[in-house]
Amino acid sequence: MDLQLKGKVVIVTGGAKGIGAAIVHACAAEGAIPVIIGRDAEAGKQLQSELQNSGATCGLITVDLATPESCAQSVEQTLKNFGRIDALVNNAGRNDKVGLEYGSVSEYVASLNRNLVHYYGMAHYSLPHLKRSRGSIVNVGSKTAVTGQGSTSGYASSKGAIMALTREWAAELLPYGIRVNTVIPAEVMTPLYRSWLDTFPNPEDKLKTILTKIPLEQRMTTSEEIAAMVVFLISAKSSHTTGQHLFVDGGYVHLDRALT
Ligand code: NAP
Repeated sequence: MDLQLKGKVVIVTGGAKGIGAAIVHACAAEGAIPVIIGRDAEAGKQLQSELQNSGATCGLITVDLATPESCAQSVEQTLKNFGRIDALVNNAGRNDKVGLEYGSVSEYVASLNRNLVHYYGMAHYSLPHLKRSRGSIVNVGSKTAVTGQGSTSGYASSKGAIMALTREWAAELLPYGIRVNTVIPAEVMTPLYRSWLDTFPNPEDKLKTILTKIPLEQRMTTSEEIAAMVVFLISAKSSHTTGQHLFVDGGYVHLDRALT
């Protein structure tokens, strides 16, 4: 299937590692030009060189997205380097465990800045360019928005807001033909997930317990499976799909517990 993404400029926030890196790889494989926006300079440079060595074009902007200025700068720099924006993938985030019992109000606000506000900032500053390209937006959410997790109010509420914003932006941007969707992972083995797992006294036992609760094939979703859904959603092949929350999770959130 030709996704018709050749030469399209796709911003991927948090694109240097994990799910974001898989999205960057998938975009490059389709002939698109991914632009990695993230704060880990080393990981970003490594991925960019890897793709360039294989003949792809890939942008890199090293920035922490937790300030509005960084979003404006990232969009400006992308325009300067590539002259257009065809898709925005808002993906950067971290389950930072700012919970109701022990998290101060200012820690909660800082968590919203790390996980939510830059989704708005990136969409806001990209919008004039997406209007021009009739582009699309994909947000990466989290199951915690619908299941809760405990001790992570900042992250869970950011992800809940991202689901609401997906519907809101899909409605607001109808006149421009800009589609907006959210992909919702549950359990994906990434550097972030690994570091969370390693906080348990026996990480491998914890992992085994988690796997038994994933209905389809009792395994983690791969980053590539999330990326495949994302590239489909930014492509012309999903041209009548907007305002959707797509759970790519092996049935983790919705299927009957009795099945596991
Ligand atoms: P990851 O392995 O940590 O990769 C995320 C990348 O984004 C990292 O390079 C990280 O930089 C960067 N990043 C995070 N916040 C940033 C910020 N404010 N500014 C710039 N860069 C930032 O994480 P992942 O597991 O791939 O997660 C990607 C997305 O999927 C997140 O939104 C996460 O909430 C969501 N998600 C993941 C899972 C899962 O099971 N993995 C489940 C549900 C939802 P650093 O390395 O410097 O932190």
